[in-house]
Amino acid sequence: MEIADGLLPGGRGGPAAAAGSAASAADGSIPPRRLTVLSGPSGVGKSTVVAEIRRAHPGVWLSVSVTTRAPRPGEIHGVHYFFVDDAEFDRLVEEEELLEWAEFAGNRYGTPRRAVLEHLAAGVPALLEIDLQGARQVRTAMPEAQLVFLGPPSWEELVRRLVGRGTEPPDVIERRLSAARSELAAEKEFDVTLVNTSVKDVCRELIALLAVHPSDSD
Ligand code: 5GP
Repeated sequence: MEIADGLLPGGRGGPAAAAGSAASAADGSIPPRRLTVLSGPSGVGKSTVVAEIRRAHPGVWLSVSVTTRAPRPGEIHGVHYFFVDDAEFDRLVEEEELLEWAEFAGNRYGTPRRAVLEHLAAGVPALLEIDLQGARQVRTAMPEAQLVFLGPPSWEELVRRLVGRGTEPPDVIERRLSAARSELAAEKEFDVTLVNTSVKDVCRELIALLAVHPSDSD
């Protein structure tokens, strides 16, 4: 399936819609925005934070990733992800249409490059929610990007979230915990850490980091 149509202008609050409310430079042009990347260990609550941003701050443009994983109930093509097959993902990689991409738990995920660049150029704050491998690639491709690490309130809390109801076999739990240990060690590669004590607090801090113009985020 082709996804190109869905990428221009891309999602809610596209460049044309939002450019009018972005801060203007003295010469009347709109200054480009810095890209912000939200990442962190799996289980830390990134997707809950993003869902709250989507709900409470529609002026923030969230990049819609491409993935080869199947949609979960309630997920909408073009809103939560662009769901594509392996052949289409291969094409996007080959044609260098992805700013970054990574394999996670047996599926591939990537950020469409063009939509990100267009929104930044139009002065629209843009946010990516991606895994650590992707955050590292963005660091290389766009050194000026702001990398935000979402951390758990404590190691015990992360363990509680990863272990869940304790229905997983011990070796699976041990693998998850060992992955979490190395994921937490990545914090030092990031510009800022936000601790996920409350979703509302994290969103407020994230919005401040995006330096959203008040009229962008009502
Ligand atoms: P899920 O399948 O639960 O929606 O996402 C699994 C993981 O993939 C999460 O850690 C999420 O941050 C990450 N992810 C989502 N989109 C992208 C993307 O475009 N690039 C990368 N590198 N990771 C992504």
